[in-house]
Amino acid sequence: MVRAAVLPAVGSPLEITEISLPEPGPGQVRVRLAAAGVCHSDLSLSNGTMRVPVPAVLGHEGAGTVVSVGEGVTHVAPGDGVVLNWAPSCGACHACTIGEVWLCADALTGAGRVHAVAADGTELHPGLNVAAFAEETVVAANCVLPVPDGVPLTDAALLGCAVLTGYGAVHNAARVREGESVVVLGVGGVGLATLQSARIAGAGPVIAVDVSPEKEELARRAGATEYVVASDTTAREIRALTGKRGADVAIECVGRAATIRTAWDSTRRGGRTVVVGIGGKDQQVTFNALELFHWGRTLSGCVYGNSDPAADLPLLADHIRAGRLDLSALVTEQIALDGIPAAFDNMLAGKGARALIVF
Ligand SMILES: [Zn+2]
Ligand SMILES: [Zn+2]
Repeated sequence: MVRAAVLPAVGSPLEITEISLPEPGPGQVRVRLAAAGVCHSDLSLSNGTMRVPVPAVLGHEGAGTVVSVGEGVTHVAPGDGVVLNWAPSCGACHACTIGEVWLCADALTGAGRVHAVAADGTELHPGLNVAAFAEETVVAANCVLPVPDGVPLTDAALLGCAVLTGYGAVHNAARVREGESVVVLGVGGVGLATLQSARIAGAGPVIAVDVSPEKEELARRAGATEYVVASDTTAREIRALTGKRGADVAIECVGRAATIRTAWDSTRRGGRTVVVGIGGKDQQVTFNALELFHWGRTLSGCVYGNSDPAADLPLLADHIRAGRLDLSALVTEQIALDGIPAAFDNMLAGKGARALIVF
């Protein structure tokens, strides 16, 4: 038996309870978690904004040590440090064939999904495949990637969602070039990773926007050269900071209609807006036909940083070892498993960035 945070039903508080895990079958790996980040998507899954079968063990951003492997697993062995990857790719569907592995049709339904069992015998679903809000988890082998050398497990925990997403938004989705102006809306874990990635890309100015004035120091430490407290005049303020033109690139890390519209309004003619934030179906963004023509802007969605984790993790590791990417700067709080509900409350209140569960 291991301790886990279980979501009994959508909208219910998480329960810290003992669960039993199966031994890893063929193509599966058992991992003892070292650390796991609490991501906004976990909150969205728990309150029904995103759907998940329940009861479920949430948590999709973590790293740990391999305890045991099932038949046929060769890329990791017991004792290895691994990063959990919640979006495994099958290598065979159309998206995988054309190199867009982040859109793999099988990512959320793939073979090898493991269901843990609660003490009373109820089957538990793994939220986003990896069920990281637990002391141990059993996952499909393609949900683990070796931790790059020289990266501590507590830092590696954040690679699997926030950092791949933020880095990928800048480098894969927006393709930020040196000297371009970038605005990042929303200074949470992903927003901070995005700011650091814009700094790595040599962008400037790098403008952070958040509703909270208290996040300025965090944002500046992550590479923001300007800080704007969100208001009705945000787009105007950003134009003033970018030669009255507007930013070359806006990256929205909130997932609200109003913020997406502000991001778009903040870019120059021909500018690019990348939406990373995950919002609900009720968030309708509108554009009139004339402005689409006049401004010549692009707006794109972005899933998991449009990343191929196997290719991008080694790049991230280089940046970490060289001190260009500081993952500890994303963490505003270290907690235990029973601290997740309070971490959710902080997210709702817009306080802090990443809460990291350290096991
Ligand atoms: Zn996430
Ligand atoms: Zn696929």
